[in-house]
Amino acid sequence: MAILSAIQACCDCPSWRAGRGASAHGNPVHRAGLASAPQPRHKEEIMTATKIQNTHCERIAFVYVRQSTPLQVIENRESTERQYHLRERAIELGWPPSRVEVIDEDQGRSGSSAAHRSGFQRLASEVGLGKVGIVFMLEASRLARNNSDWYRLIEICGVSGTLIADESAVYNPREPNDRLLLGVKGTISEAELFTLRTRLYEGRWNKARKGLLHFPLPVGYMQTADGGWSLDPDTQVRERLDYVFDSFRRQGVVRAVVRDLREQGLELPTRVTAKEGYGSLVWKGPSLSAVIRILHNPAYAGAYVYGRWEYSSERRSAKTGKASAHARSVAQWPVNITEHHPAYLSWEEFVKNQERLRQNWSHEGNRGAPREGSALLQGIVHCGVCGRKMSVQNRAAKDKRSPSYICGRGYQDGDAKICQSMTSRPVDAAVVEAFLTAVSPISLQVATRVLDQVEQDLIVQRRQRDLQLEQSRYEARLAQRQYDAVDPANRLVAAELERRWNEKLERVAQLERAYAQAEREAGWNLTADERAAITELSHDLPAVWSAETTTNQERKQLLRMAIESVQLDGVSQAGQVEVQIRWRSGTIISLSVKRAEPGEGSLKTPEEAVSRIHEMARRSSYSEIAARLDRAGLRSAFGRHFTTQHVGYICRRDGLARGKPHEGSKSEDSPNPSGQREVE
Ligand SMILES: [Zn+2]
Repeated sequence: MAILSAIQACCDCPSWRAGRGASAHGNPVHRAGLASAPQPRHKEEIMTATKIQNTHCERIAFVYVRQSTPLQVIENRESTERQYHLRERAIELGWPPSRVEVIDEDQGRSGSSAAHRSGFQRLASEVGLGKVGIVFMLEASRLARNNSDWYRLIEICGVSGTLIADESAVYNPREPNDRLLLGVKGTISEAELFTLRTRLYEGRWNKARKGLLHFPLPVGYMQTADGGWSLDPDTQVRERLDYVFDSFRRQGVVRAVVRDLREQGLELPTRVTAKEGYGSLVWKGPSLSAVIRILHNPAYAGAYVYGRWEYSSERRSAKTGKASAHARSVAQWPVNITEHHPAYLSWEEFVKNQERLRQNWSHEGNRGAPREGSALLQGIVHCGVCGRKMSVQNRAAKDKRSPSYICGRGYQDGDAKICQSMTSRPVDAAVVEAFLTAVSPISLQVATRVLDQVEQDLIVQRRQRDLQLEQSRYEARLAQRQYDAVDPANRLVAAELERRWNEKLERVAQLERAYAQAEREAGWNLTADERAAITELSHDLPAVWSAETTTNQERKQLLRMAIESVQLDGVSQAGQVEVQIRWRSGTIISLSVKRAEPGEGSLKTPEEAVSRIHEMARRSSYSEIAARLDRAGLRSAFGRHFTTQHVGYICRRDGLARGKPHEGSKSEDSPNPSGQREVE
């Protein structure tokens, strides 16, 4: 009786009456659109029908579609299609199409937690508001693989009287039996996921520990028939990688390597990771990230490494909800089989490179790459009081004041005040003097070594260019052959091939132009005269040092070639800075430098303005003087217009007005520690 009334109730659904009312009465199976289904399903269908009430049909039916990874979304279309078929099932069960809504916002999101699935959250809130009559999903438990999410949903569905349905059945969370079933399904699903994952995970690690787990090989390697690794037979690929490592060996900075490659017009080989053309080789313009990837990859040092990245579930991407990756340090790599395959560089060099890359990334304890600023000891200066690394405080350019070295880390960490600070200029001057004195006896050796290096670099660069040019000429010839081979009557194909051929020819011409220019700029063969000139130049390091064309960055580089670190102590002796220089050779020397006095070396008001002020001081008011100076086109030391205050300051300072002369004004003749003339 109950069954019949339920069917009767459901047949009151408007869409149902409009669509298939005629065949429905007395035949619930047809009503459910499963006329061809085997007989044993009848009972199930009848049970389904009893659960669906008129009140359910009046509310919305939600179809929840989910695939967890973008790859699954693409690969596993069949499953997605099955999920969309649920929409048809909703209509068959009596919901009008306008009230069936598909939620597929969570495509490509991980199901293990609801926090990052907006679709699931929307579903839960709509259900909570009592707007939803039924929720469809592929296998009920797919909805939420996290048990707590799942139970919460069942709970909410129970409260709001919402049904849950999959391909085979409809569940009413208010009924104890259904509820039990749903709970069990959720638990099984979670357990299944867990065992599946553990099995896969363990299997992977077992294989990896033996060096047998296959993953896409980095460019420059090929998989052999027996699963081993061999060097890429393509000479250009191998030599380009060699070039990158060599360039880093010479320059030590990734940016410089990229610049070098760009200047030479050299491209980097990469493997296609997109599905189309997967694994094939393409040449791309050099980028910072590409070079960093190559330098960081232990495979090039012949090592088989697995587990370089750690995925922490605490830190998840806000966008996708996926665990974020953190690089483990070399010592922490779980699988690291050295000498696993032929290498491009030694393991020792690889480790050294990692250290170097880490140091270039300026941080406490690292030197950091030399930068533009004028404080020459940037990155190598330490505090002689507490031992921390000192930082450089650069003044704003318009301030025209010298930068200073500051030990402020303790202050940042909560100390009451900064440890110490001092103006960089006198310290720099003393260190530079020591440096120039120290390097002069070895200047000849430096000179010859520099020359050898230049020569070596040129040879390597030329070889790379020749290879690239040869490659592009070959491609052009290939394009030409393809063009020649096609039947001229086949105009469309011929036109396309001609276009490609032209492109290749254009590329050859472009490379030839770039190389011709590079050769001109590099000045290939050094003449004997040029050699002599360079030798002389290196002899005269002080001149090179002070040359206008030498940048601060280059000066710092020069200093770092000889100096490991500098320690400053401006506290122990009043008015003095104790400077300790540690040479790279291991020796240490100490100097004492007079601290800069207040106002020393700072900019001074132009002489002419000062003398005009002196002239007018007795007769005119400060504001009148300021106005006249302004009219005469005179400006203050900072290039600003004179103000009443400024004129007043100078008058008081020089004793031209009432009040005592200013204290800090005797800077004109104070001695300079380096003995050099100050810039005025
Ligand atoms: Zn300190």
